[in-house]
Amino acid sequence: MRALVLDRPGSFRVAEVPDPVPEADQIVVQVECCGICGTDLHILAGEFPPTPYPITPGHEFAGIVAARGADVRPDLPVGARVAVDPSLYCGYCRRCRAGRDNLCENWAAIGDTVNGAFAEFVAVPAVNAYRLPDQFDGQLGAMVEPLACAVHGIRRLGLLGPVSAEPTVVIGAGTMGLLMLQLLLHAGAGPVAVVDRVRYRLEVARKLGAAQAVTDASALGDVRFAVAVDATGVPEAVETAIGLLDRGGRMLVFGVTPAEAAIRVSPFRVYNDEITITGSMAILRSFGEAVDLLSGGAVDPRPLLSEPLPLEGYGDAVDRIRAGQGIKWHIRPI
Ligand SMILES: [Zn+2]
Ligand SMILES: [Zn+2]
Repeated sequence: MRALVLDRPGSFRVAEVPDPVPEADQIVVQVECCGICGTDLHILAGEFPPTPYPITPGHEFAGIVAARGADVRPDLPVGARVAVDPSLYCGYCRRCRAGRDNLCENWAAIGDTVNGAFAEFVAVPAVNAYRLPDQFDGQLGAMVEPLACAVHGIRRLGLLGPVSAEPTVVIGAGTMGLLMLQLLLHAGAGPVAVVDRVRYRLEVARKLGAAQAVTDASALGDVRFAVAVDATGVPEAVETAIGLLDRGGRMLVFGVTPAEAAIRVSPFRVYNDEITITGSMAILRSFGEAVDLLSGGAVDPRPLLSEPLPLEGYGDAVDRIRAGQGIKWHIRPI
């Protein structure tokens, strides 16, 4: 089969590699679509420490079951369309046993620490596969993974169920910010303001229901927000977001900042205003809910999607992401 191979940081090629063979508890998925996310750029740059090289990256994907191991349950037949939770948890460390699998002491993930889905085929544990309704195509299926991350983030804010409408702000209108916007509105939050430097992303945010969409937080005026989400990973943006909170406000640190970054927060304000600052890391049993939210139409990722590119277009897609073009880029290996 053909696969994208990163030989070392900064160096990638499309290569002919052996077809994956399923172990007893695995299925092989023929990849229909695989999204490129910020983590992929870090893996490409050598900035994601758990990555071994060479590796075939790709963790946001959907496809068709092409082969099954001997122990795979019958409800995953060849030909079924699936999305795959890339999380690989050990199940026996103290955090897994406490139900916090995403903080597993032996954390691993498909496309991050083992070969992923920028390839025609990928072998995955059958327990990680979720069957998709018939109306899903590959691009919609490949959006389950990022949405599952957003669902976990919203849960960390304690917001997934109906909430009373309160002013909410999302900083960053990339893929994650725009998924967050839709989830927050679905949960009943709002009005929701969105801040991003890129004007056409703000147009998409408006179409998806943002009450305000501005290029700078200073344009929001004197409003104070009950909930703030950072979906940029820019430390200054996190500081800004905390500064926008009302007394009793809740802040979700969702974007991935550099590991060594620091921000200034007033501990007096955290105390006196009872500010809650929380984070969320990847996916925690939120994959099935993401499938439901997409199939029910509560979240519509279509306005975020560019036309998929072939495997050979990976470098082109990376260039476009770095140039700020488009919002979500997908690779279609077949
Ligand atoms: Zn990702
Ligand atoms: Zn574990």
